Amino acid sequence: MVESEPIIICENLVKIYKIANLEVVALQGLDMVVERGEVLGIVGTSGSGKTTLLNILGGLDRPSAGRVSVDSVDLLNLSDSALNTYKRHNVGFVWQQTGRNLIPYLSAQENVELPMTMSGVTNPKERRNRSDFLLNAVGMHHRRTHHLTQLSGGEQQRVAISVALANNPVLLLGDEPTGEVDSATAQSIMDTFRKLSQEMD
Ligand code: ADP
Ligand code: MG
Repeated sequence: MVESEPIIICENLVKIYKIANLEVVALQGLDMVVERGEVLGIVGTSGSGKTTLLNILGGLDRPSAGRVSVDSVDLLNLSDSALNTYKRHNVGFVWQQTGRNLIPYLSAQENVELPMTMSGVTNPKERRNRSDFLLNAVGMHHRRTHHLTQLSGGEQQRVAISVALANNPVLLLGDEPTGEVDSATAQSIMDTFRKLSQEMD
């Protein structure tokens, strides 16, 4: 990792979806540079390619052409298994649909600890310490035993941010993470993103 290198570099990034013989150009030569520690919002009309871009940056989809690197990892030329590892360890994702971010039959704390278990943190005490820290950071520690249905939309999103940060990703992506909550709650979620970005930089 080169510390001074931008966290995201996109050059002439192209994504074309092919369905039968129809081609949809979702990204048409996108250039973008994001520096480390930056909090960036992407604005565009519906269908302008925001989700497509986030999916590519998150390793959920592959670009058709151009260059994209995140934390000096070239996402265009990774093998499938390397892309899987990248997805699990390098990025955190918060989705718009609050219900998609948390597993309903696990408590908030168990949700935060699950990605750690999956990535091989075998010591329960280590998992507990980190989930305590992350739930405190988003102001949800007092609700750690609650399940999805016992949390408001905004609370679910704050827990989701903890889950997304569980494996200490270099990049946190949110696809309209405030899209399902009222504007005051949206403000508190965005404040949480900004606060964490400063604290964890
Ligand atoms: P946004 O998130 O900005 O609303 P999207 O990235 O979802 O935009 O979509 C960009 C364009 O790509 C749209 O025209 C959309 O219909 C198309 N698109 C998105 N995903 C797919 C897909 N899986 N298959 C085919 N076309 C898609
Ligand atoms: Mg979208």
